[in-house]
Amino acid sequence: MKITFHGAARTVTGSQHLIEVNDQRLLLDCGLYQGSRKESFERNRNLPFDAASVDAMILSHAHIDHSGNIPNLVKSGFRGDVMCTFATRDLCSTMLLDSAHIQERDVEFVNKKRARKGEPPVEPIYNVEDAVRALDFFNAVGYHRQREVLPGIYATFLDAGHMLGSAIVVLDIEDRDANRDVRLVFSGDLGRKGIPIIRDPEYVDHADVLIMESTYGNRTHEPYFDSEKKLERIINETYKRGGAIIIPAFAVGRTQQLVYTLHKLMVARDIPRLPVYVDSPLAINTTSVFRLHPEAYDAEIREFMLSEGDPFGFDSLRYARSVEQSKELNFLREPFIVISASGMAEHGRILHHLRNRIGEPENTILIVGWQAPNTLGRRLVEGEKVVRIFGEEHKVRARVEVINGFSGHADRNELLEWAGAISKRPRRTFLVHGEEDSAFALRDALQEELSFEQVAVPELRQSFTV
Ligand SMILES: [Zn+2]
Ligand SMILES: [Zn+2]
Repeated sequence: MKITFHGAARTVTGSQHLIEVNDQRLLLDCGLYQGSRKESFERNRNLPFDAASVDAMILSHAHIDHSGNIPNLVKSGFRGDVMCTFATRDLCSTMLLDSAHIQERDVEFVNKKRARKGEPPVEPIYNVEDAVRALDFFNAVGYHRQREVLPGIYATFLDAGHMLGSAIVVLDIEDRDANRDVRLVFSGDLGRKGIPIIRDPEYVDHADVLIMESTYGNRTHEPYFDSEKKLERIINETYKRGGAIIIPAFAVGRTQQLVYTLHKLMVARDIPRLPVYVDSPLAINTTSVFRLHPEAYDAEIREFMLSEGDPFGFDSLRYARSVEQSKELNFLREPFIVISASGMAEHGRILHHLRNRIGEPENTILIVGWQAPNTLGRRLVEGEKVVRIFGEEHKVRARVEVINGFSGHADRNELLEWAGAISKRPRRTFLVHGEEDSAFALRDALQEELSFEQVAVPELRQSFTV
């Protein structure tokens, strides 16, 4: 059996791992690589393998760095099944279309530049039609339901606790060349205990070969509960100042998590019932998908629903779909909360809210997710006093607050706890989905603290026979 790491190797994006066994090819994830525009475009457009020769695909979860290149895979000749959970399938139906729109818009921008230089236009990596077509190949299955994905390869999904529908993939493989059975476990992205809405990550008791994420292999988060307390304090303080709370948040997952948490805090009377606006069409579409998948909920939210009804709806909550609705928020003078995308404040409606509110000291800009270097979100976290929005300089007079504990990724201790539960230690372990520092730190900890043997941090395109 051979494994080749075609993405998320010594970086966090572009998850794609190809397994070749018994003359069959199975792809784990087909994510978009997200880096600089030019590099991303080249890498994502040119798949590193013959798409038509891939027999089946398994998708761990709907995030674009895992699912985003599936339309290109299908466009390039793939005709197998894309196996995933039901919630992942439905999330992809909105997220891949949104991604296709972004690809089309990106190319328009690139083509304007090319036209000025007299160069011919380029095609998008995929368009909306390709994304819709890709959905034909999805084949969903529930958690804990073993299914033969290819002859002699059986897949089972366990809860990964990372986002709605996220799965740990357990593959039981009859390796006919080596004449033995192999259990290959792919962690996908691992979540943490106590994240609202979704269940905690499940443990695996044995693995022969392990492919594991390492995003936070060298860092720890504050406990989830402390983050909720911090959110409560920030809202109450801003409310007393008569200010607005502007929250840049990813439309998928983080927004629903915040809405539900605010709902809980209001029911408990820990915060006032101030108006809350979710201002992002993708977030609105995604929230509808969340409502369709109570099978992926944890016990707490199920109980909450019994007494309070819709966890993602309450009297003072409004979803702003149209641009007009979004613009109306500019005129609000009383305290309110707006949750809007993009999560790193790079584009989207959040920029208008920031521009309007950043100059007033009574307001709060609340950062609730990891911010990549060179983004507006990161500049705010780093305390820059003047930032550029839509090309104009703005003094940062609003308060900037940061909550780190809402992360959907296990931290170092949680990764080690999860790996430590694998009582029959894997004979080979591969660490993916982490920058080098994180992956190497996790490798050392697995070997030194948990006696794992043969832990590798694969380089891009590196193959291993296992
Ligand atoms: Zn993810
Ligand atoms: Zn990921």
